[in-house]
This record gives sequence, structure tokens and C-alpha cells, in this order.
Amino acid sequence: MRKKIASLAALSVLALSVFTGCSSTTQTEAKEKKEEHPIIIQGPMPIEAEKFAGKLENVKEEKSGSFVFYKGTLNDYPVIVTKTGKGMENTAAATAVAIEKYDPVAIINQGTSGGHDPELNVFDIVIGERTVNLGSLKTGNMADEEGIEPTAWKPMDLMASEGSAGEDPNAEKIRYYDGDETLLAAAKAVKDTYKKGKVVEGTIGSADVWNNEVDRIQWFHEKYGSSVEEMEGAAAAQIAGAYDVPFLGIRVLSNNKTNGGAYNPDTAAANQEYVFEVVKEYISEMK
Ligand code: SAH
Repeated sequence: MRKKIASLAALSVLALSVFTGCSSTTQTEAKEKKEEHPIIIQGPMPIEAEKFAGKLENVKEEKSGSFVFYKGTLNDYPVIVTKTGKGMENTAAATAVAIEKYDPVAIINQGTSGGHDPELNVFDIVIGERTVNLGSLKTGNMADEEGIEPTAWKPMDLMASEGSAGEDPNAEKIRYYDGDETLLAAAKAVKDTYKKGKVVEGTIGSADVWNNEVDRIQWFHEKYGSSVEEMEGAAAAQIAGAYDVPFLGIRVLSNNKTNGGAYNPDTAAANQEYVFEVVKEYISEMK
């Protein structure tokens, strides 16, 4: 019996080598295979997606629900810009739809954000070494008339193992989604092409909340290490993670309450120009 399995294995190795041929053919096949998988660039609002879509070649527009996909090429590589709409729900759904429909090699979620770090100014860019959901919270136990104590709220890890409350020791840990190493390397490699501000690595926080209370912003900055806040990145990171698709968030500051930086919508276009350089770099490293 064992002999039979061994000879069967030998036969399949032979069949495989006949099938794949020499190593250069294998390399070409691997390259072709890779190129079937597009890079997805997500932007929530029209001003955060359409500039990038306009830079693609051979663009065809597709829609799924309210999500718009601009399918095109960049340096002959397939790239799809998604206008996701604002917020966590739109972004999570647009990410799942994109993965199921297009089988991407990587996803970049990008757009504007509000500063949590007083050292960062409007037009500075944060490359998301990690992304975190600032809205996954559990309140303390307070009885009737005991009030509301937001600074006592604890983080809640949505990915901690299922079970009754309190069973998983990690359930109250902050869940960070790590940026993909290869995407991070591409983003770092083209930092110098950006002239409108500085480009730093940091932590992107997301929730369906726009915080205008400086003390609350500082609380997140201290407890979560957040550099900026927006309303999409962590939702995309979570779903990309669920499918094992490499992910990176890249956010420009359009405002910063902590140092008086007033909202400037022109930052959205500036970020797309930088992300365009990141994608070009990523593609050139892949080929
Ligand atoms: N100025 C716009 C606001 C859009 S809502 C308006 O008034 O219509 C917020 C969008 O901008 C989200 O997509 C979010 O990702 C981003 N954003 C920019 N700065 C933000 C901040 N300080 N807090 C939360 N989201 C912010």
C-alpha cells in the first residue's frame, strides 16, 4: 500500500513538471496570475476618489448598490478606485463586495482626517502602521441617576473569541489592525515625492463619530495612540483581514482641532496624488 502511494506521488511530480515546463514559463505564469488581481483604492467622498479615478487609463464604471467602482489601469496594471461613501458600514460593505467581485491583490483606504497629534498639521499625511476602531467601546456599570462617564469606557475587541461576556481575557484589549509590510514599504519609499507637508507613520483611528471635543481627542491620543481620526479605515482593515487581503490606510489631515488647523478640502486631492505615487511604487516592486 505504502509503495503504491509512493509511486503515485512520483507520477504526480512527473506530471506536474511536464505540465509547468521550465522555470521561466513558471515565472511568466506567476506574473500573469498576479496581474489578474487588481489593486483597490478606496475613497469615501467624491473629492476623495474622483481625482484618482481620473488618473487611470481605460476606465470603465461599475456600480454595486451605492458603491461606484472605476475599473482602469495604471502602468498597464489593473487598478480599481472605489467611491465607498462615508462611514464604517458603507466601507465594510464596499470592501466585502470588492473582494468577492474582483479578488484584489491589495487594498488601500485613503482620504481626509482630523488630527489627534498636535505635532501634525493640515496637509501632513499619516501612513497607517496600524488602524483601530475608536467606536468599539463598552461603558462602565452605572445605575439609574449615576450619570455618564465616557472616560471610564473600556475598549471592546470585536474580534475576540465568541462566548459569554468576560470569558475571553482579550475581550477588553484594544484591537489594532496592522498595515501590510509591503504596502508600508512602498508608501515609505515615495515619502519624498510629497511636497505639501510631512509624511509620517502612525495610528489611524476610525468610528462613525466626528470628535470636536479637544479633551476627548486627547484622551484617544493618549489611550489609543491615535495620530488622526476618520470614519472608514478600521472597517476596511477588519474586512480585508477577514479575507486575508493585504491592507493599508493612508490619511491626510484636513483639520486638526488640537492645534487650530482649520478644515481644508484641498487636502483630499493632495492625498490622492501621494497615494498615486505609492501605487506606482507598489506595482513596480511587483513586476
Ligand atoms: N466637511 C464634510 C464632512 C464630511 S463627514 C461635511 O461637512 O459634509 C466626514 C468625512 O471626512 C469622513 O469620510 C471622514 O473619514 C473624514 N474626516 C475628516 N476629518 C474628520 C474628523 N475630524 N473626524 C472624523 N472624520 C473626519
